[in-house]
Amino acid sequence: MRAVRLLPPVQNCYRRTVIELAFIYPNSASSEHKLTRRFTVDQADHGRRAIAYAPVCALALSLWLTACDPSPASRALREASAPPPDAPAQTDADSSGTAAAPASSAPVSTRQAATVEESVSQPEAPDTEPGALSVLGHSVPAGTSTRLTWSPNEVFEGMSTTTPVLVVNGAKPGPTLCLTAAIHGDELNGIEMVRRVIHELEPDELSGAVIGVPIVNLQGFRRGSRYLPDRRDLNRYFPGNPQGSSASRIAHSLFERIIRGCDLLVDLHTGSFYRTNLPQLRADLRYRQVRELTGGFGGMVVLHSEGAVGTLRRAATDAGIPAVTLEAGEPLRLQTSKVSEGVNGILALLAAKDMVKRVQLLGQTEPVFYESTWIRADHGGILFSVVRLGQMVEPGDVLGTITDPITNEQNLIYSAERGRVLGMALNQVVMPGFAAFRLGVETDGPPTDNVLAAVQWGQTDLANPSDGDDGSLQKVSDTETGVSVDLEPEEAS
Ligand SMILES: [Zn+2]
Repeated sequence: MRAVRLLPPVQNCYRRTVIELAFIYPNSASSEHKLTRRFTVDQADHGRRAIAYAPVCALALSLWLTACDPSPASRALREASAPPPDAPAQTDADSSGTAAAPASSAPVSTRQAATVEESVSQPEAPDTEPGALSVLGHSVPAGTSTRLTWSPNEVFEGMSTTTPVLVVNGAKPGPTLCLTAAIHGDELNGIEMVRRVIHELEPDELSGAVIGVPIVNLQGFRRGSRYLPDRRDLNRYFPGNPQGSSASRIAHSLFERIIRGCDLLVDLHTGSFYRTNLPQLRADLRYRQVRELTGGFGGMVVLHSEGAVGTLRRAATDAGIPAVTLEAGEPLRLQTSKVSEGVNGILALLAAKDMVKRVQLLGQTEPVFYESTWIRADHGGILFSVVRLGQMVEPGDVLGTITDPITNEQNLIYSAERGRVLGMALNQVVMPGFAAFRLGVETDGPPTDNVLAAVQWGQTDLANPSDGDDGSLQKVSDTETGVSVDLEPEEAS
């Protein structure tokens, strides 16, 4: 810094010298003038001044050079931070064989820039600092934020797709909450939720850590597509396989390198294919730890479901990580109200887990647990809904109309039972059998602890949690099995 401050006087000195010389040698570039020039009295005066500047310039230059020369202490610091000359290059490849990106390091925000700089200077420091969080081969010191990159796959040698990973490591100890969004590349609301939550956090005041992966499926996101380039649904391949398909390898990389380090997981989604969802949680409520997780979201609706095999939520739960899916809104859109509801739920969760201090509003309702059923169209035509998301309906209530665009014949879709509209199709042309409305049917509550007692958290029988299920759970499973035959609604998660 001293060198930078001393540079202007040196520059000024030389500038003045050059000016004086310019008076002596006007138009020196022209050979014609060189031949005819004559020294005048004025020129001689300028010459004397130029000569007088010489010792001043020399003094300024020597001072500047001294400032540039590092002190023994700073030289030692620089040498200590430099890698040994014979150290191997950082490979950071995961077990799937995909090469990881080099440490990236852009500030999460201006406010957090200083802490980012700190984390970048020690990218591969051992996790010896108290409270430091190890993520993607980097040590993130306590009380700092940083941005890392996850490289899920290598397209071909030397070219890979890197995905930003935002990390806020709190100054105080606590759980690590992970937020993943856009596993389906066209689901945008979750991306904005991650941004708002991450930038809301102050590392100094956070207990524990929050890791956000705003766009897991970057390739799908770039194309505005739900899928990976090979038309595979990434959310059917977790926990993945390092020797499997491209989707399976990407899933494996995310799961092993990021998800396994999480204590809690919230996977953010929207409805799919011209459907929209009331902001809600999907969770396997047979597990006490998952129920506790859902309870932290304030009054958000909770729909019990085991989760399809291959979903990130299911794989995380099977691995002993309490996980929920947060559904909100529709794909390909950014919906302010849905985003706000999701963000409020996540911030409430952070407060419930004592990760942040936040005043809880009085009068918040407890989560409502639902089983669900799909109401399908029996006719083809143009669907118009007459209900809205979140509305309570009774048996026999009209949910929507389907009109044949050619014959003008109109048919009504009726509710079969009392329930709440948790998800619905947007107005569109539908075929007979199309799943149009998802009704949540309120239950007495989550499964009893007796059921949970039969399943030990983190044990191998967690992979088959249906053992010991009671009848009501089986009913849900039956409903979902029927739904999954048609794939459309099931793919909504
Ligand atoms: Zn999704």
